[in-house]
Amino acid sequence: MSAPGTLFIVATPIGNLADLSARARSTLAEVDLIAAEDTRHSGQMLAQFGIQTPLCALHEHNEAARVAELVGRLQGGARIALVSDAGTPLVSDPGYRLVAAAAAAGIAVVPVPGACAAIAALSVAGLATDRFAFEGFLPQRSAARRARLEVLAGESRTLVFYEAPHRIADTLADLAAAFGGTRAAVVARELTKLHESVYRGTLDELVLRAAGEANMARGEIVLVVAGAPATDGDDDAMVRQRDRLLGALLPVMPLSAAVDLVSEVTGLRRNRVYERALGLRRETGNTEDA
Ligand code: SAM
Repeated sequence: MSAPGTLFIVATPIGNLADLSARARSTLAEVDLIAAEDTRHSGQMLAQFGIQTPLCALHEHNEAARVAELVGRLQGGARIALVSDAGTPLVSDPGYRLVAAAAAAGIAVVPVPGACAAIAALSVAGLATDRFAFEGFLPQRSAARRARLEVLAGESRTLVFYEAPHRIADTLADLAAAFGGTRAAVVARELTKLHESVYRGTLDELVLRAAGEANMARGEIVLVVAGAPATDGDDDAMVRQRDRLLGALLPVMPLSAAVDLVSEVTGLRRNRVYERALGLRRETGNTEDA
């Protein structure tokens, strides 16, 4: 039996063909087979680069059935590239089952990174990016979408959604209702393409713009929404830290000094820390300052 082959996960452009990296181009030209979400669509893109590698279809409807065959070929030594219609495969695109099966079979899975609409939008949104959550597509039905947004309303990380153009106005309205109209958000559309545009504002402002500007509902869209502002109540990790610190400090220093220190370290409001310190004292039956 020959040495196992390699599965390359190759990102392709999200609009501007110049974003296909030199490494992606040579990988796609050199592999034995390219598994593509839509062979016609990817075939046209590849033709523009003079790449004639054979293609096979791997999409959400045949992925489960195709995986065994592709893993068999990889085990036989084939070098296979996976591409999706645009951007990075597996990001709201097929490929997860193939990657999992190839990895389980001991096949090397190699990323050839490049464009991704979510990351491109984040990079220009001007919203916090130290922590973010990618939510993919929201449910299409209004009731399910609203229910999902209620769950996300307290999320403190920046949120990234993919959205269809004909739903953007409804989704912005649902977001304003669930998160409050003053939350900052960005609609990034047609990134890297001729009509690229980035709309910034509060959710209320974006709802108005969506109603007034037909262009906002055209093309491909990423929606980036600021996370919920942190409050004393919703950050469990911070609350646990507060209690640990108070538990350690109250026996060894005066209450007000412990409260000052804990408030300073955790960033929690002093009056809330003070209330909790009094509560802890009552719980332990120790009402005297250290
Ligand atoms: N795998 C792709 C990636 O890496 O971004 C995403 C595939 S997902 C099926 C397609 C969605 O990505 C579109 O509906 C849109 O929300 C977003 N998208 C793709 N290209 C885009 C672009 N050029 N500008 C804005 N959004 C884009």
